[in-house]
Amino acid sequence: MPDLLLVGAGHSHLHLIAHARALTTAGYRVRVLAPRFFDYSGLASATAAGSVPADAGRIDVRALAQRHDVELVEDTLSGLDLRGRCATTTGGSRLAYDVVSLNIGSVAAAPGMEVGDGVLRVKPLSDLAALAARLAATPDAGLSVVGGGSTGIELAAHLSVRAGVGTVRLLESGPEIGADLPPRARRRLVRLLDRRGVEVCVDAPVRSVGAHQVGLDDGRTLGHDIALLATGLAAPRLVSELGIGDVDGIPVTTSLQHVDQPDTYAVGDCAHFTPQPLARIGVHGVRQGSVLLASLLARAAGQPLPTYTPQGRALAILDLGDGVGLAVRGRLWWYGGAALRLKRWIDRRWLARYR
Ligand SMILES: Cc1cc2nc3c(=O)[nH]c(=O)nc-3n(C[C@H](O)[C@H](O)[C@H](O)COP(=O)(O)OP(=O)(O)OC[C@H]3O[C@@H](n4cnc5c(N)ncnc54)[C@H](O)[C@@H]3O)c2cc1C
Repeated sequence: MPDLLLVGAGHSHLHLIAHARALTTAGYRVRVLAPRFFDYSGLASATAAGSVPADAGRIDVRALAQRHDVELVEDTLSGLDLRGRCATTTGGSRLAYDVVSLNIGSVAAAPGMEVGDGVLRVKPLSDLAALAARLAATPDAGLSVVGGGSTGIELAAHLSVRAGVGTVRLLESGPEIGADLPPRARRRLVRLLDRRGVEVCVDAPVRSVGAHQVGLDDGRTLGHDIALLATGLAAPRLVSELGIGDVDGIPVTTSLQHVDQPDTYAVGDCAHFTPQPLARIGVHGVRQGSVLLASLLARAAGQPLPTYTPQGRALAILDLGDGVGLAVRGRLWWYGGAALRLKRWIDRRWLARYR
């Protein structure tokens, strides 16, 4: 009976836990090594800004595992011996396996930037969750959101309408915010942020972020009470420390197997899909789940392994607070209450599968 070890209960592995019966029928003994709770990023800005309850995006992995007769080791990965096929946990347990899959997400990247203590990062989400407590403790707080991509825009917009927030500043190193959005959608967002009093600073490369100020490349410093780092996502440092990848992630082929280790899979944000660069968005983690399941079933049956084909254009919906959202798919976009209602419906439907 091959031992299958699933490390991290990210999007793909939640799918595998929910389909564990197919895996055990195929002959696997399934174990999951993960913290008890999974937090869904689609609702992270809303929970951080306090516009929905703090546990609105929370999945109880223990309850899910129990429902599907899967053994959950409530711990985190700290060591991995690929040759000896053994994982070590932070708590000191050793877990032997025949096949391992990693789905441990990402962390906020801070390329070329000095980041001091007390700066909050958008990932892991536990850091972002601390924002609500910091805001409660700091009336009329002045916030600096560093990074004018989709996540930074979403958070700046959302926080600007949160009661108790003083000022919000959004800092972007490039000439415009939302550089990968359609130009008219970008202009719509700029107008919205302006109307909500968000100070948008473009062409403002940040050299250092500290608890009370940011330092810009041109020598200026700008003060704040709370800083949020939203400068993109990178693989967790653990990936490099374990020697199975680098800041780009664990290198995998189209079959989601490690380029040199066919018994090691990696999915979602922690994987580096070597055939083509993939954005670190939840849709890949969700869609890779069914490919991973099919791959494990195929290898048990001695059949050819399926491959992952990324979707050309994925739908992304920003939650901008105050009941409005911006939906984008390729060059098409749509702003308003209906876009946010669609997002909430998609989020609720996905969460309901695992609750
Ligand atoms: C504020 C914000 C909003 C976002 N909104 C969206 C959105 O609306 N739509 C979208 O598509 N994408 C969104 N993203 C991107 C999205 O967060 C990621 O692409 C997605 O979460 C990746 O899924 P994943 O399954 O790879 O990892 P995750 O969802 O991060 O799950 C990884 C899991 O692994 C666990 N883990 C971590 N380390 C270990 C370890 N050492 N051992 C065991 N377990 C571990 C973690 O606790 C976590 O539960 C957003 C990101 C942020 C920061």
